[in-house]
Amino acid sequence: MKRGMLFTGGFALLVATGLGLWWWRFRASLVRTRRLLTYLREPQTHADWRIPARARCRDAPFLTPTEGYIGYLWGDAFRPGHRHTGIDIFGGGPNGQTPVYAAYPGELYRGADWKASLIIRHRDPLHPGRIIWTYYTHLADEQGRSLIDAAFPPGTEGVPVEAGTFLGYQGNFSGTPGRPVGVHLHFSIVRSDARGHYLDERRLENTLDPSPYLGFPLRYDQVPGDQVPTCPTAWELSEPGGHSLLRGLLGERLP
Ligand SMILES: [Zn+2]
Repeated sequence: MKRGMLFTGGFALLVATGLGLWWWRFRASLVRTRRLLTYLREPQTHADWRIPARARCRDAPFLTPTEGYIGYLWGDAFRPGHRHTGIDIFGGGPNGQTPVYAAYPGELYRGADWKASLIIRHRDPLHPGRIIWTYYTHLADEQGRSLIDAAFPPGTEGVPVEAGTFLGYQGNFSGTPGRPVGVHLHFSIVRSDARGHYLDERRLENTLDPSPYLGFPLRYDQVPGDQVPTCPTAWELSEPGGHSLLRGLLGERLP
């Protein structure tokens, strides 16, 4: 009887702790949602919240994959049992307007039935010897009509790309035709199995915190909900092909 009560008490404590932890994360994500809605209502008014595309922050190995406001971070919680596995970058324009680029050199793959997604295989610049993948999705309109560049048709296997290679455009396909999301890019870094094949991207533990790869804080608990996620110093902007480099002023306007 006593042991039973102890067990029940311990279980209740465990459940309460779990719920408390989730609520704490969920609240932070709620604040981010409010700020995102403010941006989406008037993207031009909040142009200074955007990160530039194909830009480098400090000595980060990756270039930014697109332009826009980073509405959600790695680890954000929207509903119990689900954590956000990447970052969401909202261009603020309609489908097919905001270009998406490869973040780092690698080989590109696209499944035979992938309408809106691409994945690129890389040698991990931060952990030599390891294979990682960058994943890009929502590159289709609300009906699932692809906005991916014709150079990468379904079934593409291992086509070499450079950092900054054009991949397609931001879209609003959710995976279910007729039920669109806001126009954005979901970008994540995916771990591989022992043979170098990518793991299931929908699970947080199969993905990596993108902060060290992009050079600024992008983890849910590193950026308060009311703060704009961006490079704390000036961006280094790159031209197509990654050659002529010039200093961007965008980062300097923010504290
Ligand atoms: Zn996302």
